[in-house]
Amino acid sequence: MSSWPDAALWSSEPVYVGLLGVMLAWSIIAALLLSFYTAPYGRHSREGWTTMNARAAWVVMEAPSPICFVLALASGSPSTVGLGIAALYLVHYTYRSFIYPFRMRADGKTKPLATVAAGVAFNTVNGGLNGYALGHLAPHLTESWLATPWFWLGLVLFVAGFATNQHADHVLRTLRKPGETGYRIPFGGAYRWVSCPNYFGEIVEWTGFALAAGTAPAAAFALFTAANLVPRGVSNHRWYLDTFDDYPSGRRAVIPGLL
Ligand code: NDP
Repeated sequence: MSSWPDAALWSSEPVYVGLLGVMLAWSIIAALLLSFYTAPYGRHSREGWTTMNARAAWVVMEAPSPICFVLALASGSPSTVGLGIAALYLVHYTYRSFIYPFRMRADGKTKPLATVAAGVAFNTVNGGLNGYALGHLAPHLTESWLATPWFWLGLVLFVAGFATNQHADHVLRTLRKPGETGYRIPFGGAYRWVSCPNYFGEIVEWTGFALAAGTAPAAAFALFTAANLVPRGVSNHRWYLDTFDDYPSGRRAVIPGLL
């Protein structure tokens, strides 16, 4: 099997290496913190936080990711293969930043400014680093990369994860009629196995992206996604069990058959 692309993983540029370290530290802190403290948005909202409109919050929070990604990518010389990988990132983030917020059933819902600020900071660093790596530090992304198992396994996982995430979010949307704000038990698709298939799909998707891109920021992002969404999914799962007496007992929280 072809080896992992060292050039993309190791760079001596201090700002790049420093920000990668920040992302790794962020992942560890997020996993520890969120295992004991559930972020106060959505079903876990609590009094005492300064908030803003939830739809606007999603746009403000997510838009820095594709914007910083494109600026950093364009500052370098991405290969054609690198541009193809970049397109995967941008498909996800164009949807998440500018389409998803307007499809959510979120009338009257708010989000704490503190979580929005954390999202802006993370997405600025993550988008910038991922674009920079593809534009400046990816000499492995030539046509021969397309013949590696890394690329194909990554692409398959990315597409499967994206489809799972999209379907799961679609099921959640159909649980509310326009104007409704309450919660029901979701069924169908991967909800047969887990309470949060949208999070499972997201983790699979970015793991696939990391394999297909072969860059350090993509690997750091996959790690962060799991560190953030596994504890959140466990909290959501407990909330379902506490809230609905008839909640399906065989479901796991996030990872089918495991967790
Ligand atoms: P949730 O599953 O908590 O909520 C998604 C939407 O569905 C919200 O509008 C929510 O309403 C609604 N909803 C959830 N459960 C129910 C239910 N049982 N009945 C009716 N409506 C429901 O997801 P998040 O908001 O945490 O995340 C949204 C998307 O963003 C997901 O696809 C997730 O994977 C992705 N994401 C990615 C992250 C990453 O690190 N890469 C980080 C965070 C999110 P309400 O808001 O009122 O609860």
